[in-house]
Amino acid sequence: MMSVTDLNIQLASAIKQHMPPGFSVKALHEPCLRGNESRYVQECIDTNWVSSLGKFVDRFEEKLAEYTGARYAIATVNGTAALHIAYQLAGVRADDEVLLPSVTFIATANAVRYCDAIPHFVDTGVNHPNVCPQKLKDYLNDIAEIKSGVCYNKKTGRVIRALCVVHILGHPADLDEIKNICEHYHLTMIEDASEALGSFYKGTHVGHAGLMGTLSFNGNKIVTTGGGGALLTNDPDIASRAKHLTTTGKVPRHREMVYDCVAYNYRLPNINAAMGCAQLETLPNFLAKKRELLRCYQAAVVEIDHVELLVEPDNTHSNYWLHALVLDRDDRDDVLAALHQEGIDAWPIWQLIHTLPMYQHCPQMNLNNSEQWMSRLIRLPSGVSF
Ligand SMILES: *Cc1c(COP(=O)(O)O)cnc(C)c1O
Repeated sequence: MMSVTDLNIQLASAIKQHMPPGFSVKALHEPCLRGNESRYVQECIDTNWVSSLGKFVDRFEEKLAEYTGARYAIATVNGTAALHIAYQLAGVRADDEVLLPSVTFIATANAVRYCDAIPHFVDTGVNHPNVCPQKLKDYLNDIAEIKSGVCYNKKTGRVIRALCVVHILGHPADLDEIKNICEHYHLTMIEDASEALGSFYKGTHVGHAGLMGTLSFNGNKIVTTGGGGALLTNDPDIASRAKHLTTTGKVPRHREMVYDCVAYNYRLPNINAAMGCAQLETLPNFLAKKRELLRCYQAAVVEIDHVELLVEPDNTHSNYWLHALVLDRDDRDDVLAALHQEGIDAWPIWQLIHTLPMYQHCPQMNLNNSEQWMSRLIRLPSGVSF
């Protein structure tokens, strides 16, 4: 019988054998800037339109709305800023609670704290590392009560204002089910679709099933603007308030500087939007490459026991932003070591947020499934420069 270590080395070499020509396993994800990026950025430099206004910002917002099917897209300086504004516009106030998964990037929780509100962690499913509707329903049935149209946590006495659902690694969460639960409990649903540009749930692009959703264009995302983000919404009032809040609260008045609220400088500069416009042109190509990588990784793991690839849930079409191995036993660190030994830049998922010092005292449901995913998932190199 083969030892565990041999098995893991076999996995690592199978992966190397099956990857497409020109693919690098040496980085988890790198930007791919081979379209009109330099042309559009050069145009900003040549015309001096490098800062907070310019035609590329408008064009980028239009293209994002067109592609995602959201009525409005508001570009922001990064995805975290978009989340901050989304929570604020969802009415999240000091001492409110916001439900969110522990399996996510830290920004989903940090932006709750920017509103002086309290993250409240909910568990993922057994079969997929996204929020589990059934477990959420049972939990709220237990701890939530509605008084005058507002949801309260019976245990803490605080208002539960919103739920942020994350489409983890690009895979859409079960939006219909989660939206129903949010409606039943009077919670505003926000989608953190930072990782999910190009992902569809039942044929509709994610990010605007609830009141708002957010995107990120950080350097490691499927589309990058260097740094950037966007807020998506179908609600005209939310859209204009989001624009206002992200652009310092300036009231448009000719040659007068008038501001009407404490707002933020969260605008995406034109030079970044220029890159974004070029990146969006190549998104269909990126998505095709992600699918090609899926087939290669699948061909590699099919030969190996105890590992599978994380695949898109039923009724969804994922962008497969980051491919991931799912292990059926507890040897994550051995597998990682074997992959690293073969020069494959594989990573575990983020440390669960509810275990971090600044969040460990936050309310939470039983997070068994999240704990399981933490020790079973490995993220694999998923760049599209090949
Ligand atoms: C990338 C990401 C964000 C936002 O990140 P920024 O770097 O601020 O653009 C938020 N949530 C998740 C889940 C992410 O992956």
